[in-house]
Amino acid sequence: MDKRNRIPKKELEWIHRWAHGNSPVISGTLNRRVIKYNSYQKAYPIYKTAASKRNFPSRSFKTFKRILHELKILERSFDRYLCPMCIKFRNNYSIRRRRDLRLKRFNHIHNYLHQLRIYKKLKTQLFQRQCLINVDFTTIHESLQMKVHIFTFSVTTRSVTGKLQRRYFDYVSEHPMNGKFVISAWKQFRKDFNLKRFTKGIFVWSDNGINKRNTLYQLSTLFEHENLRVQLHYFVPSHGHSLADSHFGIIKQILRRSLIGNLLTSVKQLINLVARKRKIYIKYLSIDTAPMPLIEGFKHGIRKYHQIEISAKGQFVARKWSHEGPSIKETLIIKPHRPRGRPKIYNFL
Ligand SMILES: [Zn+2]
Repeated sequence: MDKRNRIPKKELEWIHRWAHGNSPVISGTLNRRVIKYNSYQKAYPIYKTAASKRNFPSRSFKTFKRILHELKILERSFDRYLCPMCIKFRNNYSIRRRRDLRLKRFNHIHNYLHQLRIYKKLKTQLFQRQCLINVDFTTIHESLQMKVHIFTFSVTTRSVTGKLQRRYFDYVSEHPMNGKFVISAWKQFRKDFNLKRFTKGIFVWSDNGINKRNTLYQLSTLFEHENLRVQLHYFVPSHGHSLADSHFGIIKQILRRSLIGNLLTSVKQLINLVARKRKIYIKYLSIDTAPMPLIEGFKHGIRKYHQIEISAKGQFVARKWSHEGPSIKETLIIKPHRPRGRPKIYNFL
């Protein structure tokens, strides 16, 4: 018998509501929640009091912990800027569990160091006809009643005098952060920043990467249209605290300083405040209404690749490492699905 069946539905629903109400979303993430009282241990007596007030029995700590786990509510045991994979080993895990994790962690660190080396090399040896773009997104939710997302492109280029130059392009919208947002931002970015002059290569670095096949496909058609040579590189998960992150820090600082405890009233106000800053180009993003393509049977998990070269429409050369590392080159073919018979309406939101 499944243990969870023992908790009546009404009570479980209440616990879920209580847990959500007591675990705010971590700033800068979409929906990662952390328990307000830092640890499960500290939250437990507070849950018990709340439960007794509602005449619910208090469940054991073990059950309480399990429910929070199921809701993916975290403890504030680590900074979100630290990697949970690297941190795991500091915890007191059993020897057996450590042994299982060792190989995983070995690969993780190996990949991380490799990606970091490649990123640094690209940056220091950037040619004039090359550009390095870091992409990332953030959510501004502490200052507004509505959730506002920012998708940012931090662009590094080399000037004629040989200096590295950096500029930021921010696209703001209340639309949920999904493939449509990403594609619309790229379409707008292409209009605002002339990519065509970078004939020696465009290197896009991203934290988690584009993990949806249809987004990747859409992006490839976008680049192909202009004959752009684009390489997508992904940082190893939790190690991509890049330029974009420090940029978000600056935006949040601007907001804190100009609002002095007040709330933002509109997206327009946010844009006006940030736009005053030099080298930041910020704009309201109107979301592209075209439906996202549905992709035909495709087994590869895109996240396991760390470099994807877009060669032709829907064709990608993917590597598990970036550049010259001992990576296995693979060609991925991504095709849009063409349904026969009556057209269906697919909802991608
Ligand atoms: Zn790590």
